Amino acid sequence: MTQYPSLHMIIDGEKVSGGSRRTHDVINPVTGEAIGALPLAEAADLDRALEVAAKGFRIWRKAPAAERSAVLAGAARLMLERQEELARVATMEQGKPLAESRLEVMMNVGLFNFYAGECHRLYGRELVRPVGQRSTVRWEPAGPVAAFAPWNFPLGNPGRKLGAPIAAGCSVILKAAEETPASALGVLQCLLDAGLPKEVAQAVFGVPDEVSRHLLGSPVIRKLSFTGSTVVGKHLARLAADNMLLTTMELGGHGPVLVFDDADVDKALTAAVGGKYRNCGQVCVSPTRFIVQEDVFEKFRDGFIEGAKRQVVGDGLKDGTTMGPMANARRPEAMERLIGGAVQQGAKLGTGGERIGNQGFFYAPSVLSEIPLGADIMSEEPFGPVALINPFRGEDEMIAEANRLPYGLAAYAWTNDVQRQRRLAAEIEAGMVGINSHMIGAADAPFGGVKWSGHGSEDGPEGVRACMVLKSVHEG
Ligand code: NAD
Repeated sequence: MTQYPSLHMIIDGEKVSGGSRRTHDVINPVTGEAIGALPLAEAADLDRALEVAAKGFRIWRKAPAAERSAVLAGAARLMLERQEELARVATMEQGKPLAESRLEVMMNVGLFNFYAGECHRLYGRELVRPVGQRSTVRWEPAGPVAAFAPWNFPLGNPGRKLGAPIAAGCSVILKAAEETPASALGVLQCLLDAGLPKEVAQAVFGVPDEVSRHLLGSPVIRKLSFTGSTVVGKHLARLAADNMLLTTMELGGHGPVLVFDDADVDKALTAAVGGKYRNCGQVCVSPTRFIVQEDVFEKFRDGFIEGAKRQVVGDGLKDGTTMGPMANARRPEAMERLIGGAVQQGAKLGTGGERIGNQGFFYAPSVLSEIPLGADIMSEEPFGPVALINPFRGEDEMIAEANRLPYGLAAYAWTNDVQRQRRLAAEIEAGMVGINSHMIGAADAPFGGVKWSGHGSEDGPEGVRACMVLKSVHEG
């Protein structure tokens, strides 16, 4: 039986807690009850972390690629060894089924191993110059990074936030979500146990606005990396502008899925239902707005309703559960507001649309169809287990609907017409497009959005470069 661990911050390698610090209750989403008390940083804790991060950068920027690579590969091995414990803790504090938490560990293992290789490939270039002269263009680590990770991927988000700066030779102060702290601490501990100098990566928690203002206002920090909502992202981007920080912003989405009448509808349904209810829909790349061609609309909608009804909702630690509770009390409230509002405006509720039980944050897998475009849910990211399915006549209209919103993170399309596949790849405004597939993330592929979904990439070689700056050196 895994016990939920005691909670602390990690500053200069020390476990920091207690004293007069305020605390935040970590809640088990299955019961709604507190399972841990998390210490929150005071200004003095943040100042100390900043001082240590400055020192960490001086150490790590000089570390040979082989050393950075060995730390990342070592941490990947430790995560694999600790997979079960890490996964159980993530499920306890976030609620997702254990199988999904295990996959999150594997996502970090893959990413850290990929970055371990990338450390050796941070090449610059030499320009063509006359004999006796030399001009080189080199990549250098940007400096200490302030990284903010949300609660929806309690292991995967901290892995991304820590892995890239460490590969690049930066130091990093991580503020993961106060709702899922133990998972983030578990990932950081693997890096420290793999030999990462204690000054290079630290973890603080706090009142989010206090921490972000303090860190982003410091001359020590050179880069902001944030994953979360567009509204908070815009606020942090403004703070970052005052200090001219580099930024990587992974923000909200409203994933369109175009299903054409020439598609394999059964295959599309299998992928879409699985994708929709994964992590209770609390995924930035979740398939959300189903834009379905008229001729296959009814088949698709009815198949989706069947798929929703097949979900086994329950405690993520129990065998057989396919969908856990939502992660916090805010989410079922948002579902009630958004789904209730749409139904009031005439949307048809195919299934779900209600909480389950009177304990914890469970919400039924839901399907809405024929939703008026003016309903809030058609423009606000629902971040929950609801599919929005509307019929459309033809390709132009469907592309226009896909591009209607200011978001552009992930988009999906199902069609067997090869020419149409190419048109869609070109015309859909999104950072990631899945064609006849919902698998759009991989360690070697850039992950990120356009428009209000943010800018910059995580993962892939681009994720490491995003933590680096260019320098040209001209020798006469
Ligand atoms: P929220 O917008 O308050 O918070 C989103 C994240 O930002 C949380 O992790 C939070 O700790 C952090 N945050 C909030 N204010 C901050 C600040 N001033 N400085 C630093 N960090 C701050 O809302 P929420 O209820 O946690 O989530 C609601 C919405 O956020 C969702 O509906 C979804 O749209 C979005 N979200 C997106 C992602 C993603 O993967 N892109 C992840 C989580 C939440």
